[in-house]
Parts: sequence; C-alpha cells; structure tokens
Amino acid sequence: MALENLFRSLVLTSFLFIGFLLVFSPSLVSTSRAIEVTPDTKVEMYDVVRVNYTLWIENDIVDDQEGTIYVEDPEIIDKEGVPNTIIEEFPNVYAPPNLGFVEGLLGMKAGDEKSWQVLFSSGKAFNNDTDPYHREDLFYIIRLKKILLDASKPPTTLFDIPIFMPLVFLISLVILLLIILRIQRYSRTHDLFRLKKKCLSCRNIADVMCGNPGCNTPYCKKCFLEKNGCEVCHSNTMVPIN
Ligand SMILES: [Zn+2]
Ligand SMILES: [Zn+2]
Repeated sequence: MALENLFRSLVLTSFLFIGFLLVFSPSLVSTSRAIEVTPDTKVEMYDVVRVNYTLWIENDIVDDQEGTIYVEDPEIIDKEGVPNTIIEEFPNVYAPPNLGFVEGLLGMKAGDEKSWQVLFSSGKAFNNDTDPYHREDLFYIIRLKKILLDASKPPTTLFDIPIFMPLVFLISLVILLLIILRIQRYSRTHDLFRLKKKCLSCRNIADVMCGNPGCNTPYCKKCFLEKNGCEVCHSNTMVPIN
C-alpha cells in the first residue's frame, strides 16, 4: 500500500513536470512574444522592418535599395539563418548588409529618416575582403518605411529561456525531496534496507526490545506480552525501538 503511494506521487510529480514543459514550450513562447506595432514602436533587435536606404561612399551613391530586413547581426544570420517562422511570414526577408547598418536601424520609428555613418575602423562595416566595399567608410541615408513585426528573439529551444535551467534544478530538487520523504515514511513500516531488527519469536519487524541492557533482544510487542517477558533472559521489562 505504501509502495503504491510512492509510485502514485512519483507519477503525479512527473505529470506536473511534463505539464510545465508543455506550457513553456518554444512555440508558445515565441507566439506570445509578438507585440502589437503602434506608431510609437521603435526598432529593436529581432524585429522585421521595411526599409529604404541609399549608400554613399565618398561622393558617390553606390547602392540604393528597398527591402524587408530581419534586424539581427548579419554574421549571426550567416551562422544560424533567419528563423523559419519569420521566413514563413515574410518570404522576402533578407539579412541586413552589416552590423553598423543594423545599429543605425535601432530606435527608428516608421516614417523616420536618418543619416548614418559606419567607419571601417569600427569593425562593423564590410569586413569580408571579397566585398566590393571592403575597407570603405560607409555613409547611409536610412528611411524606415514600416515595422512589420515587433518581436523579441524566438527561443530555439527551452534552454534559451533564462529561467529554464534554475527551474529544472528547483523542480528536480523538489522531486528528489519528495522521493526521500516517501522512502523515509515507507521504511518506517517496512524493512526496506534490511536494517530493522526482527522479533525473535515471529520474525516480523520488532517494535520493542528486552529492557535488560545486557540482553536487548528484539520482539514485537504482541509476542513479548504473550511470552510474559524475554525468552532469553526472562526479564519482563521492555523498551520501545525508535
Ligand atoms: Zn513477534
Ligand atoms: Zn532479555
């Protein structure tokens, strides 16, 4: 019966744990993190924006483009790619030209226009030596047309959520404590580790022992009373085993 209770509590805590994992699953987190765009919304990392820009190098316009940009460090995009959910929603999304440009976008609102310089020495311009504008200082006119998606970074796994690991640790600790408490309670009435003394007479778990300090033979209370005292030393005092 006590063993059944042990399993029941284990199953219950496991279900709670699985329920917790489901509630905090990545898809739910990412959808709940999309925020409504208002005229006051400013561009932050991981947003998707419609932008128009002109790139000047010295006195020449070398690039003039309009496009949908995923606001993230372009080098990280190269390594990890644009998240699938964002490509599904915005099929024309592409990586921003360089990190300096991304920093220029941050804080802009729809309708804003700004001049923005990215020096090569900052390390945030075109770092790749195959790029035609490698080693150049860049001068942008950036026009932010629209914020298409205001979102925080969608976590790729549960482990990206900052509180996840401490919570797992805490829950594991609680489960461990529950198990230890259960085992303790169970072993109070059962000889779980074969450490309990057994009644000399009937071999059930002893709850008393002979009160003669030199004897201390274990008995169950019932047997001790039935035998009118200790069979070994004939003492008739008994003391409880704690
Ligand atoms: Zn007995
Ligand atoms: Zn005795």
